[in-house]
Amino acid sequence: MDPWHGHYSSRAAGMVASEVRALFAVASRPEIVSLAGGMPYVSALPLDQVGQLMAELIGQRGAVALQYGSAQGDLGLRERICEVMALEGIDAGPEDVVVTVGSQQALDLLARVFVDPGDVVLVEAPTYVTAIATFAGYQAELVHVPLDDSGLVPQALAEALGRLAAAGRKVKLLYTVPTFQNPAGVTLSAARRAEVLEICRRFNVLVVEDNPYGLLCFDGEPVPAMRAGVTDGQVVYLGSFSKTLAPGLRVGWALAPPAVRDRLVLAAESAMLSHSVLTQLVVERYLATQPWPEQVKVFRELYRERRDAMLAALAAHMPAGVTWTRPAGGFFVWATLPDGLDAKAMLPRAIGARVAYVPGTGFFADGGGRANLRLSYCLPPADRIAEGVARLGEVVTAELEL
Ligand code: PMP
Repeated sequence: MDPWHGHYSSRAAGMVASEVRALFAVASRPEIVSLAGGMPYVSALPLDQVGQLMAELIGQRGAVALQYGSAQGDLGLRERICEVMALEGIDAGPEDVVVTVGSQQALDLLARVFVDPGDVVLVEAPTYVTAIATFAGYQAELVHVPLDDSGLVPQALAEALGRLAAAGRKVKLLYTVPTFQNPAGVTLSAARRAEVLEICRRFNVLVVEDNPYGLLCFDGEPVPAMRAGVTDGQVVYLGSFSKTLAPGLRVGWALAPPAVRDRLVLAAESAMLSHSVLTQLVVERYLATQPWPEQVKVFRELYRERRDAMLAALAAHMPAGVTWTRPAGGFFVWATLPDGLDAKAMLPRAIGARVAYVPGTGFFADGGGRANLRLSYCLPPADRIAEGVARLGEVVTAELEL
């Protein structure tokens, strides 16, 4: 019996372990092909060079690298972050960037700064699993807005906002992953980006654009971010080095209008006092001295090959009635089972057949997603992906015969 039962805040009482995290322990057994995790393939990095860079930093600038730093983040790094954002069409100055512990911390800080219990946060259906946990942890009510192959559906967004306004609800944020969405793999079209921004302006709702995958595009140039060309403070943009460098460094950022930025910095101070200066400087030095664009290209090619392997295997092995998205970048395919099948109930049988995925329900706050599964192609090599999808195809086929 927990002696502190009854002492916890109402916030903490509502916290539950993520289904997805629980699954990772099982999925990491070597005999299982895991199509579950969203872990980047960090082995493709020049690890020796990163190690050398870190040793040099501590040897030459250790008194700075190992000291406390500012809660807004290292200025040199923020300048480099602006160069990175320019690759997706964003023109911004380092004064408006707040470095965060991955973009995950930016979500937490935004929730602290904007969400009172009972406020509405709009999210895509489906949406990023840990964003659900974060906003729900601050007692927001999450309202899903449907997406299709071209991303969030503007008409549905306008209808939801109209309904909520009529009910007198306070809608604080629209949280969206417009490019290579996690988990659906879809990208919001350029025309819809403008529409979504316009609708949010009309209803006075701040857009949070979370874009960790934008540079991992497989066909052509990166899509301009929603924040590109937006100077009226309508968008807070979140970026991360987790997928283009390494998640273990825990370096991400928020680009925010000045008043929001100031509050994020205050919230960051109370959350953690200061960032790790060391990992910020590692990223800064890496960007300054290593061929990072080439590294991003290596990741793109690697993930493109794995995506192709997954799409080919799905076409070869899935029974009729199963559908899936065709991502143009990022890490994820979102599959839909025929009517009557339940991806969550099927999971133990898939594990038994030595393949793992994430059931769709984890990406909904309202019990949706029963027929869906998220399949990630980022970590296993192409031949393992093909093997995993073949096993999954057999499981789904058997399920249809039950
Ligand atoms: N947002 C999205 C959409 C993600 O997929 C992830 C990582 N899976 C994150 C945020 C958090 O990433 P990080 O904190 O490592 O930057």
